[in-house]
Amino acid sequence: MPLYEFRCPNCSSFDAFYPMTDAPDSALCPTCQSPGRRRISAPNLSRTGSSAFKLIDSTKRSAAEPQVIDSRLPGSPSRTTGRITSNPLHQKLPRP
Ligand SMILES: [Zn+2]
Repeated sequence: MPLYEFRCPNCSSFDAFYPMTDAPDSALCPTCQSPGRRRISAPNLSRTGSSAFKLIDSTKRSAAEPQVIDSRLPGSPSRTTGRITSNPLHQKLPRP
């Protein structure tokens, strides 16, 4: 949910969270209860260093750039164990 900035005519500006689809053009000031108009402001980048954003970034990065694994997990079968499938059509597939 994005953070929107409003300017109160009597006080200073205040921030409020609203869903993107329901962002009002004005909101009541929490201090004096007068309607404040929504301002066009820069996106809230102060959270980019938080652990939540690091998790989101690593999740997005793993979808596009998966980490290369250079060793197998302990206990996992090796690649030369034998045939994995018994389907004869798989015999025609290229070998690595
Ligand atoms: Zn106010």
